[in-house]
Amino acid sequence: MTEQDKSFAPNAGLEHAIELLRHPPSKQDELPGSFSVDGIGELETLNLLAPHVLGSATYLDSPNAFAHMDPPTPWITWAITLWNSRLNQNLLHPATAPFAIEAERKVIEWLAPFFGMSGGHMCSGSTVANLTALWAARDTRKIEKIVASKAAHISIEKAARILGLPYEQIATNSEGQIDPDRIGDISKACLVLTAGTTATGVIDSLKLIGQARWSHVDAAWAGPLRLSPSHAILLDGIEKADSIAVSTHKWFFQPKDSALIMFRELEMANSAISFGGGYLAAPNIGVQGSRGASAIPLLATMIAWGKKGISDRIDHAMSMASLLAAKLSQENRISLWTTPITGITVFRPLTLNTDELYQRLPEGMFSTCILDDEKWLRSVAANPLADIHEIVSTILKAL
Ligand SMILES: *Cc1c(COP(=O)(O)O)cnc(C)c1O
Repeated sequence: MTEQDKSFAPNAGLEHAIELLRHPPSKQDELPGSFSVDGIGELETLNLLAPHVLGSATYLDSPNAFAHMDPPTPWITWAITLWNSRLNQNLLHPATAPFAIEAERKVIEWLAPFFGMSGGHMCSGSTVANLTALWAARDTRKIEKIVASKAAHISIEKAARILGLPYEQIATNSEGQIDPDRIGDISKACLVLTAGTTATGVIDSLKLIGQARWSHVDAAWAGPLRLSPSHAILLDGIEKADSIAVSTHKWFFQPKDSALIMFRELEMANSAISFGGGYLAAPNIGVQGSRGASAIPLLATMIAWGKKGISDRIDHAMSMASLLAAKLSQENRISLWTTPITGITVFRPLTLNTDELYQRLPEGMFSTCILDDEKWLRSVAANPLADIHEIVSTILKAL
């Protein structure tokens, strides 16, 4: 390698990469079978990989996409993510990331008040956010066990295992919420409530907040509803929690990896999860070490769309889920699990088996889940660009 190594400087290849993004080629050449000694160069690599990466991809903004918690990403986030990759800022080292740190401070400062929290930080996802919260709970308030419903996300059980704490799973009531009557003594426990369970989008009763030694709300999916004037009420009471996790790569339309962990008493929580000294100019807070500048695309989305732009898109997704459920409930060949609470609609056909209907529907339209030993189709309203009328008519035709 010489001093003029061209591989580190932008050139026409960058425009070509964007051109391929706009017009993904579909004809695929085979990838090399092994890690060869000599590379084929950047341009050839772009041309080789584009049909594999872009040409055969599932596009989350397709009118059919209504299956998963993964949203389409607004183009401003692609542009900023490209800037982020070029700079490779590390939140661990303030000197390399002065603006990224300011951006993170700003998004937390703008978002935490919606949840009644005093602050927090970003991390790669709610799996890590939940672990961070439970770690703070263990080391500040000496919780002795973690209690959550059977419908809680697996990340809670992972965190219990990592932290070496007993994990108690409580049965759900007929609405799919943690059954308050089955919660035993939680005076020395951390109670985890879910706002938007992964399978069915149910919100546990947030009135239970405050009864345990630490209350954590896993709002990975439904947290962003707090920004919507018409839906914020669904999360009333969340502001009394000790900690809240929200995946910004779900209903905040961010590229992965992007999530928030927020605390009501920030300084107390941070005192338990901060490490300093050595080569670090500022303390390292949280589970991750090096961390990218995911705050910048989030800040960009918040500035570009405003509160209304974000909440209008979520409201529109919610109304599509309601419409889907209303149409399905009129159809006697379909059983609807329940009316969707946070944009997740779960149903199954009564005249054929669920797998058969699933096979007949376009890929990416729905996902599946198992509830009470039955297989159900599941739809998640993460895509504001879905064509709900087309989706409804596709199901009805496939029955
Ligand atoms: C998605 C999800 C998680 C995990 O979040 P990641 O960002 O995927 O790590 C945790 N809890 C709930 C309720 C979720 O829906």
